Formats: sequence, C-alpha cells, structure tokens
Amino acid sequence: MRIDIATLFPEMCDRVLNESIIGRARRQGLFEVHCHNIRDYTLSKQKRVDDAPYGGGMGMVMQADPIYRCYEAIWKQVGMHPHVIYLTPQGKTFTQQKAVELKEMDNLLLLCGHYEGVDERVLQEIVDEEISAGDFVLTGGELPALMVADSILRMLPGVLSDEECYTEESHYNGLLEYPQYSRPAVWHGREVPGVLLTGHHANIAKWRRERSLERTFQKRPDMLERAPLDKKDRAYLKKLREEAE
Ligand code: SAM
Repeated sequence: MRIDIATLFPEMCDRVLNESIIGRARRQGLFEVHCHNIRDYTLSKQKRVDDAPYGGGMGMVMQADPIYRCYEAIWKQVGMHPHVIYLTPQGKTFTQQKAVELKEMDNLLLLCGHYEGVDERVLQEIVDEEISAGDFVLTGGELPALMVADSILRMLPGVLSDEECYTEESHYNGLLEYPQYSRPAVWHGREVPGVLLTGHHANIAKWRRERSLERTFQKRPDMLERAPLDKKDRAYLKKLREEAE
C-alpha cells in the first residue's frame, strides 16, 4: 500500500510517521508513505498557496491550483488516480470500520487543508471522500490525516506481531476491549483478577468476553445496538441490565 499526504507541513507528518511501530514498519518497507509540500507546486514567485476569500470574510483560503498540481504529480508517480480523501470537519466521522475498508486500497491520497479551508473547485475536481476527526475544528488537516494513516497502516500485514493485536481491540468487533493487566500481580494493593493467573484459556476467554460486554454496556451502550452478539452474549447483557435496574 502507498499513502501520499498533501500538506503545507510535510515535516510534521513525516516526523510522526517515522516514530514507533509505524516508523519501524516504514523503514522495513512494509508500505510507502510520501509527504508532499503543496507549496512546492505553486507557480507564484512568492511561493503563495493561499488568498483572501471571494465575497470577503476572515482568514485565507488555500488556492486550487497548487493542490491540483500536487495531485497531478502524485497521479504521475503512482500511474493512476489515487483514492483522494479530504480531511474536513464537514466529512463523515472516522471509524474503525472505515479504517478496515481503506486498508484494502492500493493508493490513498490524504489532502490536508489549512487556514479557512480549501477552494471548493479543487475539492469538486479531485476528492472522492471527506473524512472528519470529529465534531470540532482544528487548525489543519495534518492531525486527522496522521490519525487516519496510523489506524490503517497498523493493520497491514507484518506491522503488528499478529492480526489478533488489532482484531481483539476496541471497535474492531463492535465492542470495547476488556481491561488489561501486566506485572506485578499486586500494585498499590490492587490485585490482578485471579482468572488471568490460572493459564486456563477457556476461562480467560469467557472472562474477557464478559468484561468486554460489561464495559461496552457501561461506557458505550449505543454500540450494543450494532454489535454482533451471540446467544450467550445476549443472556449476559440481559443479566447486566437487570442488575442495573
Ligand atoms: N472553515 C472550515 C469549516 O468551517 O468547515 C474549517 C477550516 S479548518 C480551520 C482548516 C483545515 O483543518 C480544514 O480545511 C481541514 O483540512 C482541517 N480540519 C479542521 N478540523 C478538522 C476535523 N475535525 N476533521 C478533519 N479535518 C479538520
């Protein structure tokens, strides 16, 4: 997979994507990420990429042409139109399900806006999809782009030690994950739940499933409406609901 990020702040994106698990996987060549400076594509002698909005108003708007020329350069490099995502608070809120869907793509281009946003015409010309980090406004699209890239890249083969590392996690299967513990067995007088020390895999799996249901019930009951639940799960949730009444 190849992800291109079109931004006014490529060093910011590169720096984050060179760290930790993603950075190591990037150096191993498990995927490609290229961060492009939109400013390199302006024809303006002053390297301008923004201008005042037509109609007046506050702030500056990123101009269409440098973004389009950046997109064209990426198109030439990958030999096709990449799936273009514009990060914007007006997009659909990003989810794990969307990350799973996007990890199947060969080429993604994440377009980061800045200032008051981007000239609408280039969005109409090149963007396939709009994604939001949530219902709040940030200075730029870089943090949401990094968030999207990280969540996709960590699911690519070889990046994490095992597929289970992400399939067992919150949201992947529609539930929140069970609580996690590590050494020591007692810390500040708080003990690790005994079942986790028994080595009994079936009992541990049952305990984890129940804690997962319990946490989702307590913290995100809305998720239970869509979660794939079996008969045992439903019976356990019925018990939780009765206890809560
Ligand atoms: N004027 C725009 C509006 O009201 O919809 C907001 C512009 S925002 C200050 C500048 C840039 O940050 C946007 O073009 C977008 O790329 C990015 N951005 C801000 N908040 C975001 C969010 N919640 N999700 C994704 N991108 C966001």
